[in-house]
Amino acid sequence: MADGERLDLSDGFDVHDYRAGLKLQRQDGSSMYLSNRSDYVCPVCDQPFDRLFVSTDEQVSFTNPPDAPFCLARTAERILLLTH
Ligand SMILES: [Zn+2]
Repeated sequence: MADGERLDLSDGFDVHDYRAGLKLQRQDGSSMYLSNRSDYVCPVCDQPFDRLFVSTDEQVSFTNPPDAPFCLARTAERILLLTH
């Protein structure tokens, strides 16, 4: 049952709005890898997600494919990848 707070991308995305439940795993230049410690819900599919990648880069490469289904979202300034 997805009853957690949905990430709101309607006015961009600010990780600080969700700092209580997102744990920073790694910061890599203008990209962040976070894990979902709360029950935040994916803004794309409305299901809880495990990890969140956020980047302000215009182009991103991943050397390892996600090992789970994932959703992509974008705001005016950021790319978001959420794995489930
Ligand atoms: Zn999703």
